[in-house]
Amino acid sequence: MKKPITLAIVTVCLISLSVIFYYKKTDFSNGNTEVISREKNIEIEESTEKNNWFSFLKKDKNEESKETSDTIEVDVTPQKDLSVCNENGNIMVLMYHKFAEKSTDAWTRSFSDFKKDLKTLYEKNYYPINMNDYIEGNIDVPYGKTPVILTFDDGTAGQLSFEWVDEKFSVKENTAVKIYQDFVDEHPDFPMKGTFYIMSTNFFGAKGTFRQRLEKLVSFGFEIGNQTQNHYPLQKAGSAEKVIEEVGGLAKFVDEQIPGYKISSFSIPGGTMTQKYANQVYAGEYKGFKYENKGIVLLYSSKPALSPINKDLDLKKIPRIRVAGNEKINNDFEYWINYFDEHPEERYISDGDVNTFVINSADKDKVIDNGKIIIK
Ligand SMILES: [Zn+2]
Repeated sequence: MKKPITLAIVTVCLISLSVIFYYKKTDFSNGNTEVISREKNIEIEESTEKNNWFSFLKKDKNEESKETSDTIEVDVTPQKDLSVCNENGNIMVLMYHKFAEKSTDAWTRSFSDFKKDLKTLYEKNYYPINMNDYIEGNIDVPYGKTPVILTFDDGTAGQLSFEWVDEKFSVKENTAVKIYQDFVDEHPDFPMKGTFYIMSTNFFGAKGTFRQRLEKLVSFGFEIGNQTQNHYPLQKAGSAEKVIEEVGGLAKFVDEQIPGYKISSFSIPGGTMTQKYANQVYAGEYKGFKYENKGIVLLYSSKPALSPINKDLDLKKIPRIRVAGNEKINNDFEYWINYFDEHPEERYISDGDVNTFVINSADKDKVIDNGKIIIK
């Protein structure tokens, strides 16, 4: 009598264990099972996508029949139409320099135009991120939105300056950052992000210490980038040591102001450099301080940047789009904003999940296999 029962219990246990083991091995929640071949990867993720869709369908069924709401767990993931997503689409990196009440040259944006730029980006579903997020492929952007990166060169006073108001260290009126802050106050679903390429000699006006200015900038959500200590003309560099001093010196300076702060991108002063000392720009060590610029942003290359998952992306040549001042220039911000209105299929459109990249099947050979790709 006892033997068959024991046998039955053992069998049931063994079956349960193997079922648990199978589910543990296959993580259905995000589909990132370890895979070796690219083909296999795509296959699994395609089926995971169907899995997701299946859960949406299940949810609809539950809602329709209204008979199981008490007993069956309803998937609370909001329904997303993944067909609109394109995470191999292009991303604009915008480039600003000076700001003033009135623009008198191509490098100066008026404050009122900057306010309009933010409004345009907001209304057209763009969503600012920092350069380091782009470099790391960490695109944490809501569903349906297109990431955009605002960059600011030279640390000009019009970008950011401070004043003491009732002994409080405050951002001055009529600066780009103040305009941005006011805009975010009115539009809390628009984040305050952007990368400021500074020199250590002077930046952000005259009030406050360098440390106070940088700490404020970072506390707002912005990011610091490297533009050498002295806006050094790299194309004229005479030695590797000088390049290391200028590039590493700025990185070390920022680390001294904000201990542990890691700069990850570099803007070429004046826009030109020779390849001779490129390696010293990319990474090195200055007075015992190690620096690395994973991303290099260009001055003269007015086109959108490729998606971080695109195989053709060269992080050492990230193109930027100029936001021109009073003179109209070719392929500027206005041109590209209109271009993407006419060609929305070329925009990066987020699936709202930082851990997955939804792409068109036609793009499956154009993206790197990072284990996070979902083909729609
Ligand atoms: Zn510059």
